Amino acid sequence: MQLYMPTKVYSDKSCVKKHGKEMVSYGSKAMVVTGKHSSRMNGSLADVEEVLKNENVPYIVFDDVEENPSIETIMKAKAIGLAEKVDFVIGIGGGSPLDASKAIALMIANPDEKEEVFYQPKKLPNLPVICIPTTCGTGSEVTPYSILTIHKGRTKKSISHRIFPELALLDAEYLKSMPRTNLVNTVTDALGHLIESYLNVNSNEWNRIYVREGLRVFADFKERLQLDMLLEDDYEKMLRTSSWAGMAIAHTQTSLPHGLSYALTYEKNIPHGRAVGLFLAGYVNTYEDQKAVSEVMELLGFSDTEQFSNYMYDLLGSEQVEAELLEKTANDLMKDTGKLKNYPFNITKEELMQMYQK
Ligand SMILES: [Zn+2]
Repeated sequence: MQLYMPTKVYSDKSCVKKHGKEMVSYGSKAMVVTGKHSSRMNGSLADVEEVLKNENVPYIVFDDVEENPSIETIMKAKAIGLAEKVDFVIGIGGGSPLDASKAIALMIANPDEKEEVFYQPKKLPNLPVICIPTTCGTGSEVTPYSILTIHKGRTKKSISHRIFPELALLDAEYLKSMPRTNLVNTVTDALGHLIESYLNVNSNEWNRIYVREGLRVFADFKERLQLDMLLEDDYEKMLRTSSWAGMAIAHTQTSLPHGLSYALTYEKNIPHGRAVGLFLAGYVNTYEDQKAVSEVMELLGFSDTEQFSNYMYDLLGSEQVEAELLEKTANDLMKDTGKLKNYPFNITKEELMQMYQK
């Protein structure tokens, strides 16, 4: 077993301002990587800019990161970052900007490398990355992963390079302006990370520490989430759960629901967390080791998988997905040996297709 969590994490109210000096200590010119809207709405971008100005650290803002960032966007940011001579990257937002910030930090540190390098097993340096999550699902602020959209393959895939952020600054205040659907989708992603990490070939008593605590906290807020009656404290709990889930998959990676979700997101624009969530009930029902599944259910506070399935259905509703698309996504996954090997048992294409929540 190996435990490795090199990202330094602060979780606090006004975290960015409180730890601003440390945030700017990673370089002399920053590239702030974010999307167009949410970091302006929730105040996170303003907080970061205030710190950079007060500390007299020059910076540029790259806010062209789209949902499910493409390789093209990363290459565009690379050119700007090189021209502006930035030497550290601050990612603000949900999984898309945070994942993008890692890929951009990799490319700027390796000016001669072309986009092919994303999927080559090469050891390369990267600029320091600081992540400030404003959703509660991805956990990207504490994982080494960066998932990019590959238009050629009509899907998404994690790059080969492992890039842990140096620093993660967690302030649940930023979550509060999120629309309910986004909140539900992102926290479902965190739930997927927890379940797929526990029911995973790489799972062990050490990395299950993160999962167990994450599942317990999820059990605490799950009913209020379902009823849309969240309390003030719940935002911090959701953000914490999401980071713990990230720490869990940093050790185990994800499994089948994530593998199955990517083509759904690409073809039908279904948000990542929701696309994962639609496979979760099927995953726990299919999983051969039902003793391990019972442990997960117990930690989550469900009596059995049927109660869990009903909860997921109530939370996400149904989504019509054509049989051909399910077949494509199952076919893609059958070829993805990296993802399949995280599943401890044999699985058929038909079983994969049946995991979908109708
Ligand atoms: Zn995910």
